[in-house]
Amino acid sequence: MIRFDQVVKRFGDVTVLRELDFHVKPGERVTLIGPSGSGKTTILRLLMTLERVTSGTIHVDGECLSHVRRGDRKVPADERHLRQVRKKIGMVFQQFNLFPNMNVLRNITEAPVRALGVPREQAEEKARELLDMVDLADKAQAHPSQLSGGQQQRVAIARALAMEPEVLLLDEVTSALDPELVSGVQNLLRDIAHQGNLTLLCVTHEMNFARDISHRVLMFDQGQIVEEGPPEQIFTEPEQQRTRDFLQAVL
Ligand code: ATP
Repeated sequence: MIRFDQVVKRFGDVTVLRELDFHVKPGERVTLIGPSGSGKTTILRLLMTLERVTSGTIHVDGECLSHVRRGDRKVPADERHLRQVRKKIGMVFQQFNLFPNMNVLRNITEAPVRALGVPREQAEEKARELLDMVDLADKAQAHPSQLSGGQQQRVAIARALAMEPEVLLLDEVTSALDPELVSGVQNLLRDIAHQGNLTLLCVTHEMNFARDISHRVLMFDQGQIVEEGPPEQIFTEPEQQRTRDFLQAVL
């Protein structure tokens, strides 16, 4: 579903990802862990096409993010192609990123109506179902500023799911929340992860959450994978000293 081949990403002189190879199967849930600055968020931003690779290729569901085939030629991917690929991907950010001037219902329906052409009434019906699922059925008319951080993040999750993505990207989704709001959002995501067929790529500093939701954990350092494996192995019997040091510092 997601494939990185020899991906290099540089910002000026700084190399953030170094010939990175990995792939994620459909329905697989993978968590990226590692020290600050190791390139985890950059991976999600590349997938959302918020950044472009310096070299190498990324495929999502067989579609290349940098080139498209025209007959026997490969040409750079245009905005139209990228929009098509992006429709398969939902992302939830650390800082919620809700539209502050729109109410909750509108926040959720805007993209399905505008990007997918779903009739507004149908989009609203679906949005109300999602609000029910995230336990915010009574907040449809509220504006983001009237909600707590945890409630805003639950709206952001509903908004991402409204696009019916095949891939969901989670970028440190609880790190901006007050501690007492973290478990509500984590429980919701755990339920969503265990219910559906979503392919999930998650960046988190919460190791218990990583253990609960992932099939596989990738440990990053300096733009490379230093170790990978199922959570029970990575968290209890890591093979690499770098992983042991990291876990000792965060656990
Ligand atoms: P954290 O856990 O702190 O979020 P991370 O592993 O997600 O860290 P990234 O956010 O991917 O790390 O950043 C990796 C490196 O790339 C950092 O050194 C960062 O300063 C640099 N970087 C990221 N985006 C840019 C940018 N737009 N311009 C310049 N440097 C950038």
